[in-house]
Amino acid sequence: MKRLVLLGSTGSIGSQTLDIVREYAGEFSVTALAAASNTELMEKQVREFGPAYAVLWNEDAAAELKVRIGDLPTKVLSGMDGLLTIASLPDYDILLTAVVGMIGIRPTIAAIKARKTIALANKETLVCAGHIIMPLAKEYGSAILPVDSEHSAIFQSLNGEPKDRIEKIWLTCSGGPFRGKKREELLSVKAEDALKHPNWSMGKKITIDSASMVNKGLEVMEAKWLFGVDYDRIRVVIHPESVVHSMVEYVDGAVMAELGAPDMRLPIQYALFYPDRRPADASRPRADFCALGKLCFEEPDTETFRALPLAVRAGKTGGTMPTIFNAANEEAVAHFLAGRISFLRIVELIEEAMDAHVPVTDPDVDRILEAEKEARESVLKSIK
Ligand code: NDP
Ligand code: MG
Repeated sequence: MKRLVLLGSTGSIGSQTLDIVREYAGEFSVTALAAASNTELMEKQVREFGPAYAVLWNEDAAAELKVRIGDLPTKVLSGMDGLLTIASLPDYDILLTAVVGMIGIRPTIAAIKARKTIALANKETLVCAGHIIMPLAKEYGSAILPVDSEHSAIFQSLNGEPKDRIEKIWLTCSGGPFRGKKREELLSVKAEDALKHPNWSMGKKITIDSASMVNKGLEVMEAKWLFGVDYDRIRVVIHPESVVHSMVEYVDGAVMAELGAPDMRLPIQYALFYPDRRPADASRPRADFCALGKLCFEEPDTETFRALPLAVRAGKTGGTMPTIFNAANEEAVAHFLAGRISFLRIVELIEEAMDAHVPVTDPDVDRILEAEKEARESVLKSIK
């Protein structure tokens, strides 16, 4: 039985992780769950999965949860202390981190130091702190298993081949709801248009990031850290069907890929059971190639979707620059979702924050958090 600590349990990835726990009854026990403020769903999850700990970031929400589950032995904690406590518990095996945003950095570091296996959906953590996380994981012998579908596909396609045999990584991208559109057509798009992703059902922030291609930019940086491949060897290709989840091209020209229906339960399950591959329930979607007929691939339009070259610039600059890219985006997306700024403004604000930033090399966590603050302030100043 694998013992699981799940950060972000009430979100899209978190809920699907608990679907897997439910589907493979008896294979997992849930040691702790964490979310931000969704008391109602957290109560349901606690009643169903009986964790020893439940954390809500928000103190008032945690106080309310304590009352709601007063009849249960589950301990309720709050804030960063709560997240760090559950990440550091001695008696569990896997931390699946599916919180949204760079709030995931410190709990991930704590779990690595407690020598846990990390199943990582929270890409912002690697983008901002990959230079800390990856060496630390090596030092403590913690495996970092990707949950992001593209990275899971690359991980599966690598299958133990040595790094120097990789020629390039092909990162596939659906293109999102605005594929084929030009900048003029995106001037007045609203949050509800950007939230209509053609293939994947995800949390709001990543859905906006997919529409702006910031998500693919973050994924390029995530791939660099996970697989140790230079930016010049990571190529993004638009693939609207989202059936090829990504590919590895080897030095001899052979290309390995993982294909399947777009369903996050597959990469989640792969990380949870790794290195085993378990049969999935018959009710889950499967790729039917006869029905699909054809698969399409296109060059990304980097004139319209400037987030992609901007992310590569941030990644190549390194140090605190990826944090500026990520934090300016987190702040800008929140304002876009609140209807305060236009869609195209998101990426302009990222670029402005990057242009104003003097990068610091090899930042520690405190310096990363300072850069986060600087980026958020830069966005707030610009939109006033
Ligand atoms: P959601 O917005 O659906 O869920 C986010 C989760 O994080 C919720 O449980 C939320 O709690 C919790 N949370 C937010 N802030 C905090 C905090 N400060 N402390 C504790 N918990 C917090 O996001 P997704 O599931 O879509 O995405 C999660 C991560 O996975 C992101 O990094 C995303 O990029 C990545 N990812 C997601 C994919 C997807 O298909 N959704 C695919 C690949 C990667 P509450 O509900 O209370 O707000
Ligand atoms: Mg992805």
